Amino acid sequence: MNLEITGKTKLCGVMGDPIEHSISPAMHNAAFRALGLHYAYVPFHVRRGDLPAALQGMRALNIRGLNVTIPHKVAIIPLLDEIDPLARQIGAVNVLLNDSGRLIGYNTDAEGFLHVLVEHGIEPQGKNVVVLGAGGAARAICFALASRGAALTILNRTAAPAQACAEDISKTFSLPMKVLDLNRENLAYALQQASVLVNATSVGMLPAAGASPVDRDLLGTHLTVMDIVYNPHKSKLLREAEKAGATTINGLEMLIWQGALAFEKWTGRQPPLNVMRKAATAALKKYEK
Ligand code: NAP
Repeated sequence: MNLEITGKTKLCGVMGDPIEHSISPAMHNAAFRALGLHYAYVPFHVRRGDLPAALQGMRALNIRGLNVTIPHKVAIIPLLDEIDPLARQIGAVNVLLNDSGRLIGYNTDAEGFLHVLVEHGIEPQGKNVVVLGAGGAARAICFALASRGAALTILNRTAAPAQACAEDISKTFSLPMKVLDLNRENLAYALQQASVLVNATSVGMLPAAGASPVDRDLLGTHLTVMDIVYNPHKSKLLREAEKAGATTINGLEMLIWQGALAFEKWTGRQPPLNVMRKAATAALKKYEK
């Protein structure tokens, strides 16, 4: 079925900066088409300072739902009318629902991330997990891991957001947690004791695909390495981890799951996961050409 835009069409989208790399439009529009829904999904390039105006626009234009991505997931919190309790605990929002002009913020990154871990048979309980980053996605991942009993070491380029992330998680869970600056020495120390490494920074994302947050000699067979960067499909970190004999997981499945959970909130319908997976994979291939 074609995606026909009519007077009944409800609009959804994703806002962030940069946004051109997003494959969410392909994934969601395919899902709307498959279920014959009068919905369409578009990207919105929203810069940091324009967030309040963008939210006013969402209300005024009666946009039904938005995904929220870099760099807005944390900054958006005080600007919303309501925050779902889980998103409030995490301190980051990646999904907005417009309920008759009231903007409600949710977090589906945490649940999406956990789906992927479970699919790969990883049980975080009692494991030493290193998380790189302290932005919106890292907050959701750290919260998800803490909720399953992992011991966390958070490394970030800037100290303050990492400290804030750890303090917020400590309000809900009392678990061993370390916060370190993201540098080679600290990575070497943390990775020696860890069994799982998650990159939740944007390092390695297109167009800067030549970058990796970890030197290759620090990776080894004792690690499962997950990179939530999904564009490119296999980041430099994952390529090097694979060469070092580590188990690797890319960010595509997490993207699909967090998107599917958002789709359900906007439409009230069961998301067609296989359609979304196929469209996302095809969009990524096209993008990488
Ligand atoms: P964000 O809130 O803007 O956070 C970005 C993080 O990356 C911060 O920790 C930042 O550190 C770090 N960073 C950025 N540039 C860096 C550099 N050159 N060197 C070291 N650290 C750097 O963004 P986000 O929403 O959390 O997203 C982060 C990444 O995850 C993006 O690539 C996004 O596409 C991806 N993501 C994937 C999924 C998925 O489903 N697969 C879901 C969500 C996000 P500072 O604090 O020092 O700035």
